[in-house]
Amino acid sequence: MRVDTLLRNLHVAGRDDAVDIALADGRIAAMGPGLVCEAVEVEDFAGAFAFPGFVETHIHLDKACILGRCRICEGTLAEAVAETARAKVAFTVDDVYERASSVMEKAVLAGATAMRTFVEVDPRVELRSLEAISAVRADWSALIDLEICAFAQEGTTGEPETERLLEKALAAGADLVGGCPYTDPEPERHIARLFEIAAAHDVDLDFHIDFDLDPSWNHLDAVIRETERRGRRGRVGVGHVTKLAMLAPTEVDAVADRLAAAGIALTVLPATDLFLTGRDAPAGRPRGVAPAHRLAARGVTATIATNNVLNPFTPFGDASLVRMANLYADVAQLASDDEIAGVFDMVGSAAARLMRRPHALEVGASADVVVLDAPNAVAAVREIAPTLAGWKRGVKTFVRPKASLLAGPRAAIGAPRCGTSAS
Ligand SMILES: [Zn+2]
Repeated sequence: MRVDTLLRNLHVAGRDDAVDIALADGRIAAMGPGLVCEAVEVEDFAGAFAFPGFVETHIHLDKACILGRCRICEGTLAEAVAETARAKVAFTVDDVYERASSVMEKAVLAGATAMRTFVEVDPRVELRSLEAISAVRADWSALIDLEICAFAQEGTTGEPETERLLEKALAAGADLVGGCPYTDPEPERHIARLFEIAAAHDVDLDFHIDFDLDPSWNHLDAVIRETERRGRRGRVGVGHVTKLAMLAPTEVDAVADRLAAAGIALTVLPATDLFLTGRDAPAGRPRGVAPAHRLAARGVTATIATNNVLNPFTPFGDASLVRMANLYADVAQLASDDEIAGVFDMVGSAAARLMRRPHALEVGASADVVVLDAPNAVAAVREIAPTLAGWKRGVKTFVRPKASLLAGPRAAIGAPRCGTSAS
């Protein structure tokens, strides 16, 4: 058999022995131990872990990297929304394109092969960010698949013009729409209108929701109700839902069962949720991250994502999903191999399921392959394993050589150890 690329000696999910993976014409042509084939390029990875790449389900490329334009005095959600809304007025197409591209580069180098980005449309920025992100999608299409969610960050009922812009964004190529009840003066009407727009265009929906730690009220009930009433099972996602962090385990399980029954996916954004929530607690601040693993265990499609990079919502960020998975596992106090494997799933196959994408290393699948410097997924999360190389549809997209010492420890180079030299 003649193939384009032969990747030797890789560990993959679901089997103990190392395999070779042959790539031809953008697809996985063969996979198994000791493949015999003629290949244009051959690489040996000495037992490193390969998978189809991380899937970023929730990021904001349009408002990334604006720390220099914003003040962070209180570090609250309200301040982040206000500061970003102010900065957004001055966004230009070129400006958004440059900042978004810098995050795309980080994401690809960190092993992402697919991504959903929110892009704000409203009277402040109109369709400028959408125009920029559409160009980013086209220019990066050989490296990563980008899905665009036209997003009403400032709500819609107080700014009816935004509804018209959401419609225009869909006509211009946005893939789905996103709502934000917590900023809308009439949250339930906002939710209902977003469902109407999504149904009219037959697109998916993704809400930012219940982004505080007061469990006495919520907007999630309205989303569940509308999803069921309008038959949108499997087409709706909710992000943050940090109120769940304040519920007793049995209450969380009850919500999980309702989300699973309604087919609603949930995404936690650990970096943002930790940074913004709980600031009014005088002491003993709660963690403010929804227990996604507990929901996943009851059948909810649960994912972990980056959200923001270097802006007032999250003044940190490198678009690394293995780092975000590690952060979540630590915050959620997970330890066993099974638990950690579940966390890897939340930035891999579950994340792909949320975006209704295939995500498997198997013969015939798209040749999307990312190699991590770890023997398996669990070790990758525990150690925040760096990437080594990646392929998208069979084309090598990046290489990140393993760091190496330039000098060995003294024992390794035969020098006498301290205190044991000949007297
Ligand atoms: Zn977000």
